[in-house]
Amino acid sequence: MANRRNFIKTTAIASVAVALNAFKDKTDEIEEVSSISGKVKKPIVLSTWNFGIPANEAAWDVLKKKGRALDAVETGVRITEADPKERSVGYGGRPDRDGRVTLDACIMDEFSNIGSVACLEHIKHPISVARAVMEKTPHVMLVGEGAFQFALSQGHKKENLLVETSEKEWKEWLKTSDYHPKANIENHDTIGMIALDEHGNLSGACTTSGLAYKMHGRVGDSPIIGAGLYVDNEIGAATATGHGEEVIRIAGCHLVVELMRQGKSPQKACEEAVMRIVKLTQIRNKNLKDIQVGFIALNKKGEHGAYCVQGGFNYAKYDETGNKLIDAAYYLKV
Ligand code: ASP
Repeated sequence: MANRRNFIKTTAIASVAVALNAFKDKTDEIEEVSSISGKVKKPIVLSTWNFGIPANEAAWDVLKKKGRALDAVETGVRITEADPKERSVGYGGRPDRDGRVTLDACIMDEFSNIGSVACLEHIKHPISVARAVMEKTPHVMLVGEGAFQFALSQGHKKENLLVETSEKEWKEWLKTSDYHPKANIENHDTIGMIALDEHGNLSGACTTSGLAYKMHGRVGDSPIIGAGLYVDNEIGAATATGHGEEVIRIAGCHLVVELMRQGKSPQKACEEAVMRIVKLTQIRNKNLKDIQVGFIALNKKGEHGAYCVQGGFNYAKYDETGNKLIDAAYYLKV
C-alpha cells in the first residue's frame, strides 16, 4: 500500500489513472497505474553469482518470446545444474562429508504455487523435480529417497553427480575433516533466479548442492520457501545465497518481500534483511566475518536491488539493456 501511495504521489498520469479506476479493486489499480505510466521494466531476470550470466541468457530466450517467468527461471537454472564445472550446483556439485552429492531446490510461480526437493541424490535437475512436485503432487516438498523415487517416476535418470575433481578434493578434505564453511571461499554458492515476464508476472527458482562437506542430511535455505526464495505476484520476489542457516534464521526472502510490501525499494529491503542478520549475529555472539549472505530482489515495477554481508557477491541482470554482472553493495567494510 505504501508503495502504491508513493508512486501515486510522484506521477501526475498515475493520479488520472487512479481516478479512472476508482471502482476497481486495488490490485487492478496497481497494474493499470504502472502500465499507463510506462514505468514497468519488463521483462527482466536476475540471478546470483557469475554463473547467472549464461543462466540469464537461457532465461531471456524464454522471456523475449513473451514466455512465462516460471518457464524462464526453470530453463535458466538448468544451465547451471548441468554444468560440471560449477561446483556448487547440480552435476559437479561438491559432496557432503560422506562423499554424497545431495541437492536442494525450490520453485515458486505467480499463483503462489510452490514445489521443493531437499537432500535429493543422483538427479541432475532438481529444479525440474521441484516443479513436478508443485504441479503433479498434492504436496509442496519431498526429501531424500522419496524425492529420488518421485524423480524416477517422472522420467529422470539416475546419474553419478560426483565428478572426478570433486571426489579428489573430498578425499583430500577427509585427511583433516576440518569443517569450516568460509565466506566467499568457493565451497558453496547457489543459483537463485527471479524474473518478471512480459505479462507482468513474477516467478523464482533456487538450486544448490549446499555447503561442501556438510553433515549428511543437512538442508540449507535453498529449498525452503520463504528462506532461499519467495515470490508474491502483487509485490515482488527475492532469492538468497550464502550461509543457509543464517537465511533460515530470519526467514530471509519472505522478509525481503514483506519489506517491499511495506513500501521499501528492493535495495532497501535487501539491506534491512542483511541488517537483521548482522544484529542477530551480534546477539548470538558470533563473528560476522565468518558469515556471508546475499539477497537479490525484484519488485512488480521491474526495479531491483541486492545487498550482502561482505564484499565479493555479485549477480547477473538481464533486461532490455543487456546481460550484466553487477557487484552487490555490502555491509562489512574491513
Ligand atoms: N545457501 C546455500 C546453502 O546454505 C549455499 C550458498 O548459497 O552458498 O545450502
